[in-house]
Amino acid sequence: MNTKDNFAQHTPMMQQYLRIKAEHPDMLVLYRMGDFYELFFDDAVRAARLLDITLTTRGQSAGQPIKMAGVPYHALEQYLARLIRLGESVAICEQIGDPSTSKGPVERKVMRIVTPGTLTDSALMQDSKEVVLLALHVSGDALGLAWLSLASGAFRLLETDGSRLTSELERLQPAELIVSDEIPSALIFPTGLPLKRLADYQFDTSNATRELAKQFHTRDLAGFGCEAMPLALGAAGALLAYVKHAQQSALPHITGLSVERPQDFVLMDAATRRNLEITETIRGEPQPTLFSLLNSTATSMGARALRHWLHHPLRDRLVLSARQSCVAELADKGGASRYAPIQALLRNWADVERITTRIALRSARPRDLSGLRSTLATLPALAEALLWAESSGLRQLRERLAPQLIALDLLNVSLHDEPATLLREGGVMRDGFDAELDELRAIQNNCGAFLLQLEARERERTGIANLRVEYNKVHGFYIEVTQGQIDKVPDDYRRRQTLKNAERYITPELKTFEDKALSAGERSLAREKFLYEQLLDALLPCTPALHALARAAAELDVLACFAECAQRLNLCAPHFIDDERISISAGRHLVVESQVGNFIANDTDLSRSRQLLLITGPNMGGKSTYMRQVAQIVLLAYCGAFVPAQHAEIGPVDQIFTRIGSADDLAGGRSTFMVEMTEAANILHNATARSLVLIDEIGRGTSTFDGLALAYAIARHLAEMTRSHTLFATHYFELTRLNAELPNIANVHLDAIEHKDRIVFLHKLESGPANQSYGLQVAGLAGVPKSVLRAARRHLIELEQQSIKPTTQGDLFATSSQLPSSAAVKHRAVEALRD
Ligand code: ADP
Repeated sequence: MNTKDNFAQHTPMMQQYLRIKAEHPDMLVLYRMGDFYELFFDDAVRAARLLDITLTTRGQSAGQPIKMAGVPYHALEQYLARLIRLGESVAICEQIGDPSTSKGPVERKVMRIVTPGTLTDSALMQDSKEVVLLALHVSGDALGLAWLSLASGAFRLLETDGSRLTSELERLQPAELIVSDEIPSALIFPTGLPLKRLADYQFDTSNATRELAKQFHTRDLAGFGCEAMPLALGAAGALLAYVKHAQQSALPHITGLSVERPQDFVLMDAATRRNLEITETIRGEPQPTLFSLLNSTATSMGARALRHWLHHPLRDRLVLSARQSCVAELADKGGASRYAPIQALLRNWADVERITTRIALRSARPRDLSGLRSTLATLPALAEALLWAESSGLRQLRERLAPQLIALDLLNVSLHDEPATLLREGGVMRDGFDAELDELRAIQNNCGAFLLQLEARERERTGIANLRVEYNKVHGFYIEVTQGQIDKVPDDYRRRQTLKNAERYITPELKTFEDKALSAGERSLAREKFLYEQLLDALLPCTPALHALARAAAELDVLACFAECAQRLNLCAPHFIDDERISISAGRHLVVESQVGNFIANDTDLSRSRQLLLITGPNMGGKSTYMRQVAQIVLLAYCGAFVPAQHAEIGPVDQIFTRIGSADDLAGGRSTFMVEMTEAANILHNATARSLVLIDEIGRGTSTFDGLALAYAIARHLAEMTRSHTLFATHYFELTRLNAELPNIANVHLDAIEHKDRIVFLHKLESGPANQSYGLQVAGLAGVPKSVLRAARRHLIELEQQSIKPTTQGDLFATSSQLPSSAAVKHRAVEALRD
């Protein structure tokens, strides 16, 4: 409906609604009416569909029935959580005026905006996952990114080239995306992420620089190393403005930003992250993955950090070896595990990182603060559990986990031992902390005693032995005197009510008490709210230290988890070497190992003379498992963790690429073959001699000859030109002849044996090419009907017989001198005919 054109014809309340809605056109507006939050018009239709609530129409405004849908106020959080999960943003509009005194509709205001990327409320967030808001700015081929985790205050910038957009989205996994309204939709829409478009001027670099410096209280941004990043700065400016608008408050915990440089990390593209099943399986499930298997962190902060580390393998060897020494120290020493007491202490920790942010945003609840208090109280024990630390890494962590005396003291003196869940319930501040609050509480608690005292006094003063001091809801406090005694009533008694047999009076003293008592409840709640806010104010200066503490705890938690994994999963410390070589003995694939009874460990030797390993062997033989295990071992090593092997020596690695069997990307409009070739193109353009490349089957989505020819050329290019460390699994046996042409290619295979009617996979990597592919046997295992298998076997024999021996597919690649001349072919054909 066209609500704008006929604004004046709407009822006053609808006019109020439409004004508010106009300020939040791209979110659902929940408009408080009595016990419900109502949605109107298109918002109502949308919410009814998303939440499965009833859509009704009520009354009329501007001659149109009003579409409505509503949710009860007490169930708000639950509906919010569902809307946010569906990627919606919501503006919550409360009644702020007093209904009894307002003329026309009660005054209303948007008090809270919730968007998928700006969550800080514990009820709406997953504990172990960071919520990231990402702003993008594009110019030509260049891409500027700025992203913020509001709940932790981490604010980062990166500039890179446009082709890395998908990889970065996969790495950062933002919950919400902000772009300029001038970015073409085609660039962004395939992401399917909740998207906010802001006016292009919001991305203006100089404006952004000014606003950011204001936010960080610095003169300029020189100290942050981001001067030469105009695009990312523009994105950061737009992001900050958006978050300020959504939070409707200052963001005191955002005190700086850091610049990421691609060369700091072992880069992985989007496909690689998926194929290695780091935090999600290929099917998008949370387990079994590398993360789910390793994660024994004790806090949600640690779990989030582990996720981050696994997605951000580092290239700085100093940091890596520091992490390794910590892990080694935390792992068992002489039978007593050192990580276990630390994990036990951390297990009781509250989410200090998110609580601290809520303190800064003034949305911390009483239980957040009591959780923070009990956490801070464990710090001395944690420092003690680290007393033995020798490595500088752990010693530094011990220092970073020093007691936070100011914050702890503030909480100890002011906060109730077990505060109520909600501030409005009272019982949050401690008795004895504030005289005024104590008095108000005393009045509420001591009403009875005071009245008895007064009664005794008045009986004595008046000589009326049956005088009674009482209370009822309608008349409040009163002194009741029976009719026979009325002449004894003193002058200061004022009549309040006359009954058949008695009169009820009030005295100035009782009136004063009544005023105090009746308002004491309300006033004590107001006082508590005031004191609570003062406490939040007082804690504000502690927030930077508390955030630093949270980071240290998260780090210690991940290191303790690595130590625990080293023991539980029997891992070893990898050695970093300068040679461009990857040597692994008895390497394992952790996830597969956890699923099969008897995992066969395998060695890997990738060196200058063995740069490309051509892996053959039957389907189900273990080729993919083997390749992924090598990549995961390298990844874990570059996270500073121990690795599933007996021994590992790992040279410099700049990127990991994988090209592993894929499904059609129908949503993206690409066939399997197209996906395959796009991934191959990416590898061929970007891999270097220090990259680890995994190629699992290439060229299978087209005709055999085309595919084989492409696979051949790609393998050659990798071995000859890029000279990357490459694991190349293929079913094209013809390729196994490549090692005769290029000395840095080696053949290895995974074997199987036929036993009676069955095929047994050995899963052991052997040198040389496989001699059989066992395709029919595997098809049999998969349940292909016997009749079809018989037909296939017959056809196979025919194919093998006519395999036009001199022109096998392998000969496609024979050099011209190796090719039989056409005369020879003719000659043989003639001979065959004669035979
Ligand atoms: P391929 O890629 O050759 O088709 P996969 O790597 O997918 O084979 O392995 C198939 C299955 O074989 C795995 O799911 C796993 O159950 C088992 N497997 C693979 N490698 C090993 C191994 N080294 N030890 C034990 N079982 C293995």
